[in-house]
This record gives sequence, structure tokens and C-alpha cells, in this order.
Amino acid sequence: MSKSLLADASIRLENALKHVDISDDAIERLKYPKTSLMVSIPIRMDDGSLKMFRGYRVRYDDTRGPGKGGVRYHPNVSLDEVQSLAFWMTFKCALLDLPFGGAKGGITVDPKALSKAELERLSRGYIEAIADSIGPDTDILAPDVYTNAMIMGWMMDQYSIIHRRIVPGVVTGKPLSMGGSQGRSTATATGAFHVINTVCEKLGRSPEKTTVAVQGFGNAGAEVAQQLANMGYKVVAVSDSRGGIYAEQGLDIPSIRHYKVENRGIKAVYCENTLCNIVEHKVLTNEELLTLDVDILIPAALENQITAQNAHQIKAKLIFEVANGPITSEADKILEQNDIMVVPDILTNAGGVTVSHFEWVQNRNGFYWSATEVKQKLKEKMIREAENVWELAQTKQLSMRTAAYTHALNRLGDALDAKGTRNYFVGSSS
Ligand code: NAD
Repeated sequence: MSKSLLADASIRLENALKHVDISDDAIERLKYPKTSLMVSIPIRMDDGSLKMFRGYRVRYDDTRGPGKGGVRYHPNVSLDEVQSLAFWMTFKCALLDLPFGGAKGGITVDPKALSKAELERLSRGYIEAIADSIGPDTDILAPDVYTNAMIMGWMMDQYSIIHRRIVPGVVTGKPLSMGGSQGRSTATATGAFHVINTVCEKLGRSPEKTTVAVQGFGNAGAEVAQQLANMGYKVVAVSDSRGGIYAEQGLDIPSIRHYKVENRGIKAVYCENTLCNIVEHKVLTNEELLTLDVDILIPAALENQITAQNAHQIKAKLIFEVANGPITSEADKILEQNDIMVVPDILTNAGGVTVSHFEWVQNRNGFYWSATEVKQKLKEKMIREAENVWELAQTKQLSMRTAAYTHALNRLGDALDAKGTRNYFVGSSS
């Protein structure tokens, strides 16, 4: 039987434990999610029938602050997946020194099969079901795969209806008109862009001489491809769930985004339109995209994309994990043996939760920042932590992943020990 996602995620914790001085109590606490809620959500469908959906909310740890994490709508959502995503959020928030613990939620559903009204009823039904375990001081929601600002707006509104007052701080990633923050929709990609630039600078790699392939052309992937292309990186391949495209001379990212929006898929670019006269594209499968001979590979879709089965075929020199958990721990070992540097998800994609923190702060103060202010604060934070992880990796001769976990664990361990009672009891009987 294959290993569960959470068991695989925990291997990263084990690897980092060798490099930190942290108490046994803290280690034991971090091995288990604090609360795992599973709910059944009844929804009246447009045709009058009643359908039940399964939803989850997991708060992995809240020692450093309220739980924080997105909500995913996908047919493969399971308790194991949500627990592992909540685990990663715990380390991500600690790594970025945000006053949050880690949480995550999800509904097992194919959102593309629902009408907009059904999607709204499902989102409101989910909040009804989990309302007692979330809140601006307990557990804060955000968007993830196949959820967006509109859905976050419905969720915040439903929570506010239940509590008979406006509670913007319970959800981040909301529309601007409902208390969202400037820069939130592009924050994950912008954060990733700063991490990629920082690491490339350290490696003496110039954008113009760097080729990039991006798997996943959604909120995070399309925007990071755009920002890299604007900076001069040569983005030669992109893909979505239906397949990908490749052009040796570099792709025209704005046109591809436009076609995807118009036609709901990158396939629309496949030579039905004038874009094909500008740039010659080759059609690629997702498997082919992952094994392209490029300088940088960016998985920005889902977890478990690079496994022991395909890791030895990866030719990229650098991988930046914009998706959560795209590489298994077994694949990690193969990539390390092949001298491929992996910059982990908990650092690369932390821009999203960082601006979510900014949004939560703005909601609590009722005072809103300009786009320039958000951009500047995000840039400072991402570059600072990317440099911290880089320095730790260099000084202790660690992989970037183990360095990132070590850095986060030091902060988590301090908080867990500060809250603990062990020091009081040890020696108290003498
Ligand atoms: P999204 O739903 O906007 O986009 C996902 C993209 O992946 C879509 O283009 C979809 O077609 C594509 N995709 C799905 N299966 C694929 C496959 N097998 N091969 C290639 N492409 C495939 O989601 P998103 O918000 O961009 O999130 C993507 C990843 O980034 C997820 O792992 C998510 O957890 C992570 N992430 C997102 C945010 C955020 O703020 N959006 C923050 C942190 C991490």
C-alpha cells in the first residue's frame, strides 16, 4: 500500500529534527493534527434533488496563533490530503514568522460540474457545518485549488449572517469590496517570483539565460509565468489539466492567459488562432513537460507530480515548488542524488499566506493599505526568509527543504516549549 500523504509529509519533519535542539514534548505534539473535522453538507440541486457532499476542516497546530489555511474544492479531496496540507501550513506560517498556526479545509466535489447557484449553496453550507470551529481568533479560511475571491466572499457573508455582525477577519482572499487586500490575488506568484529571483541571484544565474517550464496555469502558475517573463526569463512551456504547449523561443504568456480565459483551456492556443502565426507551438503532455530539458521547473498544480517513478527523468537544474507537496520524499532523494536543487513549497508559495496575514491585520484595524505598501512589505518578507533559508542551507550543508523545515521548527519548538509545563514538573518532586 502506498504511504499516506501525511506520513510522507512527516518525513520532512524527521529530516529536520536532526538539526534542531527541540524538546521531545514539542516533537510529539507536532506529529498529530490538533483537530480534524469531517462534515456532511446537504445541498438542494437546481433540479430539485438533494445531494450530500463531504467536507473537512483540519487545524493542525495553533500554538503560534489561530489556524490559517485555504479551502480546496476537488474530487480527490480526502481527510489525509487536508491533514497534510494543514501540516504544511503550520510550517509555512512559522517559516514566514506569521502569528498563525496551520489549518486547511476542503470539499470532495468537482466544482466544474456545479452551476454557480449550486456552488454558492455548497460554500454557504460548508460554513454552516464548520461555523463553530472557525473564527478570526481561532481558524481563518482562504482560497486554494478551485476556490476564489467570489467563494471567499460568500463564506465570509455566511459566517457574518450566523453571527449577526460583519466578521471580515474569518476569511482572507476576499473581493476588495468585502474587505480584501490589495495584492492578494497575485500574492502567491509574487512571493514565488521573489524567492526564484533571490535564489537565481545567489547562483549567479541571469534571467535572460534561464529557461522555465510551468506545470499548472491557474491563479499561481499563470501569474508566476507572467512575472518571470516580464523580468526576462524565457518561459518555454506551460500546461493545465488538459495538456501543455512548448515553444523553444519562449511563449507569449499574456496571449495564452487571454485564450485560456476565453476558451477555458490552454488547448485553445493549439493553432486555431493567430497566436500560432507569431510563435510556433509544440503540444506537450504533462508528463513531457515535467521532463523537459530546462533550467527551472515550476510545479504549480497539485501534489505528487514528481515521484520515484519519474524523478530520475527530470532534467531541470532547479525546481521551485509553487504547488503544495508536488514532490514525494522518495523523489526528493533521487533529485538530490542528481544534484537538482529543490526550493520547497513552504518557502516558495508562502506569499499567499503572507498577504492573507496583511488582509487579516487590515480587517482588524479597519484601515487599508495601498497596493504599493502591500507589494513592498511582501517583497521584504519573502526576500528576508529566502535569504535566511539559503544561509542556513549553506552553513549547515543542508538541502533547501531541510533548511526551511529547520528554520520553521526552531520557531515552532520555542513556542511549544514556552507554552508547555514540562520544565515545571521536571525536578519538582526533589
Ligand atoms: P488553480 O485552481 O487556480 O489552478 C490549478 C491549475 O492546475 C489549473 O490550471 C489546472 O488546470 C491545473 N492542473 C490541474 N491538474 C493538473 C495536472 N495534472 N497537470 C497540469 N496542470 C494541472 O489553483 P492555484 O490556486 O493556482 O493552486 C495551485 C497550487 O498552488 C496548489 O497546490 C495550491 O495548494 C498551491 N497554492 C496556491 C495558493 C494560492 O494563493 N492560490 C497559495 C499557496 C499554494
